Amino acid sequence: MTFKEKYTITPAYLTAPSKRRSGLLLSPGVKFIVAHDTGNPGSTARGNRTYYENSRNEMSASAHLFVDDKEILECIPALTGNKPEKAWHVLYGLPTDNQLFGYNANDAAIGVEYCFGNNINADESYRKYIWVIAKICFTYGLDPAKSIVGHCFLDPKRKTDPVSGLLQSRRTYEQLLRDIVTEYIECTGTVNEQYVYTSSPGSSIVQHRLNIRKGSPTTKAEVAEIVSPGTSVTYTGYVSNGEPVNGNPKWFKNESGNYFWSGGIA
Ligand SMILES: [Zn+2]
Repeated sequence: MTFKEKYTITPAYLTAPSKRRSGLLLSPGVKFIVAHDTGNPGSTARGNRTYYENSRNEMSASAHLFVDDKEILECIPALTGNKPEKAWHVLYGLPTDNQLFGYNANDAAIGVEYCFGNNINADESYRKYIWVIAKICFTYGLDPAKSIVGHCFLDPKRKTDPVSGLLQSRRTYEQLLRDIVTEYIECTGTVNEQYVYTSSPGSSIVQHRLNIRKGSPTTKAEVAEIVSPGTSVTYTGYVSNGEPVNGNPKWFKNESGNYFWSGGIA
């Protein structure tokens, strides 16, 4: 299996050893991902990295990747180095990372920062953000539906990221989690086994031009076939958690393993 290389990840490692980059390896390896935002509207990936480098011996906070509309910068080895190293992006002593994943985030998670606000194109920054998170899942064999947690869920008293940053680009945390799964499917060409399928054969008459999507119940999947109004389409069953279109996530599956949105037929 390969992963679609839509973007470049640029290594821009902080100097090690320093307070921000110890050089210690993640141990026992990459087990999950923490989604962050910078909390600083308008600050760019490059700007954050420069600030980290200049203050590397003063403060210990750090993250592996900064993503804006222009670039994906890796300042602690995560994807581009030999082995992933530790960054200090979640406080030790918080219980939720251990409860959810069995490890402290700093020992076993990659931290990814979303840059947003002012002159940063929110959509382009978002596209790179979900792509690189999906790429981490692919690289380390993580389930994209289960391996991402927002910083605010680990540290609810102190943090609001990435919910607050995403809000500025009109997106929710739930949307982020869904989009990462969709991106993973698109970039690997796999069908998401997390879709809940119910066998329920039937047929219906198409009312409007209907796109039959190849292999996955999302509008991002390639169109396998376009069916004209008045044609009868048959299905073997449906998934109840495909991509929501107009708020409706139900998609029918046909004999070929392709999908069409339930709102597209009578
Ligand atoms: Zn954070």
